[in-house]
Amino acid sequence: MNRLRACGRVMAQGQDGKVDRVRIHVREGVAYASGLCVCANGWLCPVCGAKIRAKRANEIAIGVANLIMSGGSAWMVTFTVRHAKGHALAERSKRSTTHSGNSETA
Ligand SMILES: [Zn+2]
Repeated sequence: MNRLRACGRVMAQGQDGKVDRVRIHVREGVAYASGLCVCANGWLCPVCGAKIRAKRANEIAIGVANLIMSGGSAWMVTFTVRHAKGHALAERSKRSTTHSGNSETA
């Protein structure tokens, strides 16, 4: 949680353990900072999550395009965990990561 809290707000340490500098870059009319901590938590951080999702979407698009170009086909499928108002998130998360396959069918 500390990494998440520090993401984009705290200066990162260099290889030598010393705090590096924050730099502002401008590329193609877009400004961005470097030298800040990055949590890389794709599930909880809105900034890192957006970056990770964009990168994965691009990877999937390239993979699906290559598959289709070679004569294959692809479908988008989303799996969800059945839940209700009274279910605890921690318990549902634990069960969804420890079970494989579809053990809770309707
Ligand atoms: Zn982050």
